[in-house]
Amino acid sequence: MPDPFFPEGMPLPAPQPDGVDAPFWEACRWHELTVQRCSDCGAFRHPPEAICHHCLSFNSVWEPVSDRGVVYSHMNVVYPSHPALRDRVPDNVVLVALAGASDVRMVGNLVDCPYPEIRIGMEVEVVFEDHPESDLTLPRWPPSP
Ligand SMILES: [Zn+2]
Repeated sequence: MPDPFFPEGMPLPAPQPDGVDAPFWEACRWHELTVQRCSDCGAFRHPPEAICHHCLSFNSVWEPVSDRGVVYSHMNVVYPSHPALRDRVPDNVVLVALAGASDVRMVGNLVDCPYPEIRIGMEVEVVFEDHPESDLTLPRWPPSP
C-alpha cells in the first residue's frame, strides 16, 4: 500500500534563489564554494543577508572560500522531513566551520562516513552533487582524504 505522506517519485525540493542568495547557488553550479562578505567591515555573511549583522552595511561581495572545513556540530536524521528524502535517511547533517572563514557555519550533509565515526573537529572537504533535473547543485561534505 502506498504511503500517502511519503509517496515515491517526488523530486528533491530545490532552493528558490532570491536576489540575496542567488550568487551562492550559481557558484555551486560551477562547483565553487563562495560566501558573501561585507565590503565595508569584511565580515562573512552566511546564510546570505541583505544587510551586514556587524556594521549594518548594505554593501557586499562574493568571495571564493576554501573547499575545506571542520565539523562544528552534527546530528543524524532518521525520519525524512520530505518525501523526496525517504531513500536518503538515515542522513548525517553537519554544521561545517569553513577554513579561512571560521565564523561561517554552513549546513550540509556529511557523506561517505558512518554516523558513529563523525567527530567534532573532523576535517571535511566539499564535493558538489549535481541534480540536472532541477538545475540544482548541492555542496556535500565527505571526510578530507
Ligand atoms: Zn559589515
